[in-house]
Amino acid sequence: MPILETVGPELNRSAPRPAAPSRSAQRKFATLPAPALEWNERIERETAPLYARIKNVVPPNEWPFFAPYVAAINTIKKQRNAVILAHNYQTPEIYHCVADFVGDSLQLAREATKVNADVIVQAGVHFMAETAKILNPGKTVLIPDSRAGCSLATSITGEDVRLLRERFPGVPVVTYVNTSAEVKAESDICCTSSNALQVVESLGADKVIFIPDQYLAKYVASQTKVKIIAWKGSCEVHERFTGDELALIRSNDPTIQIIAHPECPPDVIAAADFTGSTAHMIDFVRTKKPKRVVLVTECSMADNVQAELPDVEFVRPCNLCPHMKRITLPKILDSLLHMKEEVVVDPAIAAKARRAVERMIYLKS
Ligand code: SF4
Repeated sequence: MPILETVGPELNRSAPRPAAPSRSAQRKFATLPAPALEWNERIERETAPLYARIKNVVPPNEWPFFAPYVAAINTIKKQRNAVILAHNYQTPEIYHCVADFVGDSLQLAREATKVNADVIVQAGVHFMAETAKILNPGKTVLIPDSRAGCSLATSITGEDVRLLRERFPGVPVVTYVNTSAEVKAESDICCTSSNALQVVESLGADKVIFIPDQYLAKYVASQTKVKIIAWKGSCEVHERFTGDELALIRSNDPTIQIIAHPECPPDVIAAADFTGSTAHMIDFVRTKKPKRVVLVTECSMADNVQAELPDVEFVRPCNLCPHMKRITLPKILDSLLHMKEEVVVDPAIAAKARRAVERMIYLKS
C-alpha cells in the first residue's frame, strides 16, 4: 500500500539539542594510569588469537598500531567491570577484538537488558548509548565520542511528535530506535529495521504514524495493509545509494547477489535480491554463502562479515557513516581510563522512553 502522507520538519523549526556530557562518572570512578601502548613480543603473542580473527581484512602492517590498544582496553575493561556493545558498523578491530556483544540496534537493545557489569561502553552512536542508559538506569553508560550522532535522530524532536499527535489524533506512533530519548518518550512503541513490520501490525490499528525514516516507512507500507503516515527523515549513508549503480554492477555480473538495507530509497530496494536489517543481511550471507555479494549498507559491515567468511567475495560500493567512524580504539581507551563521556537521560523522560522500548523488546513473535 502506498504511503498515506509524508510530513516533515516544517511542522516545527526547533532543532534538537544534544545533552551536555555529565561528569558524575569522573567523580565516582578514579582515573586509571595510562598504559604504555608499546608494540613488543609480549603484546604480539597475547593478541595473536585476536589478530587471527581479522587477518583477512586488516593488513599485518596495521596490527602493531591496533594491538597495544586492544590489549590495554581488554585489561582495563576487567578492572572497571565494563562491557563494550558494538554495532555492526564498527570497524573490525573494535567489532572482533574488544567488543563483548555485537549486533544491530535490536540485538544491542536486547543485550543491554542482560548486562551484568557496572559500566557499559557503547561503540556506536549516541541514540544507541541513550537506549542502553534507558534500559540500565543504575549503570554508568559511556560513549567514547558524544558527537557520534545520526541524521535520522536529528531529523525529529519530541515537540514534532506532539504536533503530529495533534494533527492525527488517536493514531498510534511507531518510532524507529534511531531517535533521541525525548522522541521515544513521546511514542507508543519503538521498532528496529528487523521488526518494523511486526511492530506496525501488532498494534491492530488501520493507520499508524511511522517516524522518522521515510524510506523504511515506504518499505513497511509496501508489505502491509496498515496505512502509514511517514516523516521526512532519512539516513545520510543509505540515501546516497542509487538503483542505477546497482544496475551497473548487475550488468557486469548477472549472478551477483545484491542485499540492501531498508533505509535505502525504493529504487535501490527494487534492484536488490534481498532486503533486511543488518542482522538479517549477515544471516543471509552466512546461510547462503553467495560467491559474490554486494551489501548495500555501511562499509564496515562488509569488512566484519568478510573477516568471518573469507571465501565470499564482497563487491563494493559502500558508504561510510561519519558518525560511526568517530568511535576509535584510542577513544574507547580514553573513555575507560577517564570515565568519559557519560550519557545521562532525564529520569522522567527515561521512564516514558523505557515503556516504548520494552514494549518492542517483549513483543511476542
Ligand atoms: S548509518 Fe545512517 S542511520 Fe546509522 S547511524 Fe549513520 S546516519 Fe544514522
